[in-house]
Amino acid sequence: MGSALVVVGAGVIGCAVAAAASDLFDKVVLLDARPETGLAASWAAIGGITPQSDDFCRGPLRQFAEASRGMYPQWLAGLEAGSGIAVPFLDSGLLQVALDPSEQQRVQEQLVPQWVEQGFRVEQLDARTTAHAEPLLSPAVLSAVRLPSEGALEPRVLMSALREVLRRDPRIEVVARARVQAVTPGAQGVEVLLEGGDVVRGDRCVVAAGAWSPELVPTRPGGQFPVRGQAAELVVPGGGGYPLRHHVYCKVAVDDTTVSSYVVPRHDGRVVVGVTYDQGRWDEEPEDHATERLLAALQLVVPASRDWRLTGSWAGIRPGTADGYPLVGNADADGRVVMATGHFGVGITLAPITAALVRSILSGAALTAGQADALRVMDPRRFL
Ligand SMILES: Cc1cc2nc3c(=O)[nH]c(=O)nc-3n(C[C@H](O)[C@H](O)[C@H](O)COP(=O)(O)OP(=O)(O)OC[C@H]3O[C@@H](n4cnc5c(N)ncnc54)[C@H](O)[C@@H]3O)c2cc1C
Repeated sequence: MGSALVVVGAGVIGCAVAAAASDLFDKVVLLDARPETGLAASWAAIGGITPQSDDFCRGPLRQFAEASRGMYPQWLAGLEAGSGIAVPFLDSGLLQVALDPSEQQRVQEQLVPQWVEQGFRVEQLDARTTAHAEPLLSPAVLSAVRLPSEGALEPRVLMSALREVLRRDPRIEVVARARVQAVTPGAQGVEVLLEGGDVVRGDRCVVAAGAWSPELVPTRPGGQFPVRGQAAELVVPGGGGYPLRHHVYCKVAVDDTTVSSYVVPRHDGRVVVGVTYDQGRWDEEPEDHATERLLAALQLVVPASRDWRLTGSWAGIRPGTADGYPLVGNADADGRVVMATGHFGVGITLAPITAALVRSILSGAALTAGQADALRVMDPRRFL
C-alpha cells in the first residue's frame, strides 16, 4: 500500500490543498458531507481578493495576504491549464467610496494613514474623478480611494475549475456525501471515521471543514465560531461585460443601520452585492429583510441599480476565529493531522497561499522565513 493523504472538506481550501499536494502522495482522498464539492461558504462568497481592505490585512499576516494576491495570476493560469476553465479576474482595483462626511473622515483619518504607513498603494479620487472613474456611482459620492492591488472573481467559477482539476488528477478520489465523524491520529497514521461506520485510513489528514472544523478537532470554547453572511445577485438589463469598472465598497446608513455594501460586477452583466456579518448563526437560508437592506444600500451607492433585476440571494457560513486569524499547521505532536481552516472573510483571497503552505508542511520542505512567521500566527495549538 502506498502513501495516502485524506483531506476533510471540499471547499476552496480543501480542494486547493488536494490539488497542490497530490504529487506528494500515491493517493489523495477528499471527503465532503455535501452532494458536491464547493457548496458551502466557498459557494456563497462574493469573490473579492482583498489583501488590503480587509481589517485582517493590517495585522501580522499582511505580507501573507499580499503574497497570496501575488500568486493569483499564476494560480488561475495553472487551474485553467489543468481544467480548461478560465476564471475571469477583474484587476482594476477596489474603489472604497464615502457618501457622507463621517465615513469620509473615517477613511481619510483612520484607513488611509495605516495603508500608507504599511506601504500599500492608495490613489485618492475627489468627487469629479470618482465620477469619471466609475460613472454609475451616485452623484452624492464625496470621494473615493482606489486600492489598485485588489481584484475580484466569481468563486463558483473558481470552484468549477478546481473541481475539474481534481477530477482529471488520477491520484485524487473525491468522495461526496461522506460526513466525517472523527479524525483519530495514531502511531501508524490517521483513521477517519465516516457516518455509517466506514473508516478511511491515511498517513496524514488535512482538516479543512470550514466553520464545521471544531466538530472534528475541538478547540477551546469561543475559539472558533460561525459568522453567517448574506448576499444577492442582480442582472443589468441588456448588459454584457462588467457593469461596473471596479468592485466597490461603501459603508452606508439604511434606516439608521450601517450597512457594509460590497458591490462586485461579474464579467457577463451580473452584479453581486453583500454583505452581512451575523456572528453565531448557522442557518444558510437567506432572509428577505436582509436582501431588502442590501438592495437599499446598493441603490444609495449605484442609483441605476433600481432597474436591475434581482435573480437570487443566499447565505453562507464563514469560519470565524477569536483573534481573526486562520488555523493552519499541525494539530498533533506527530504532525499526522494538519489544520487548514478559520479563514473567516478572506478564504478565497488566501486559498493559493494556504494550499502552498500546507503542501510545504506535508512535504517537510524547509520553510521560508515568511512562511515560518505566518505559521506562528496561525498555529492551531493556540486554541487547542
Ligand atoms: C456571503 C459571503 C461572502 C464572502 N465573500 C468573500 C470574499 O469576497 N473574499 C474572500 O476572500 N472570502 C469571502 N468569504 C469567505 C469565504 O467564503 C470563506 O473564507 C471560505 O469559503 C472558506 O473556505 P473553506 O474551504 O474553509 O470552507 P467551506 O467552503 O465552508 O468548505 C468546508 C467544507 O467542509 C465540508 N464539511 C464540513 N463538515 C464536514 C464533515 N464533518 N465531514 C465532511 N465534510 C465536511 C462542508 O460540506 C464544506 O464543503 C465570504 C463568505 C460569505 C459567507
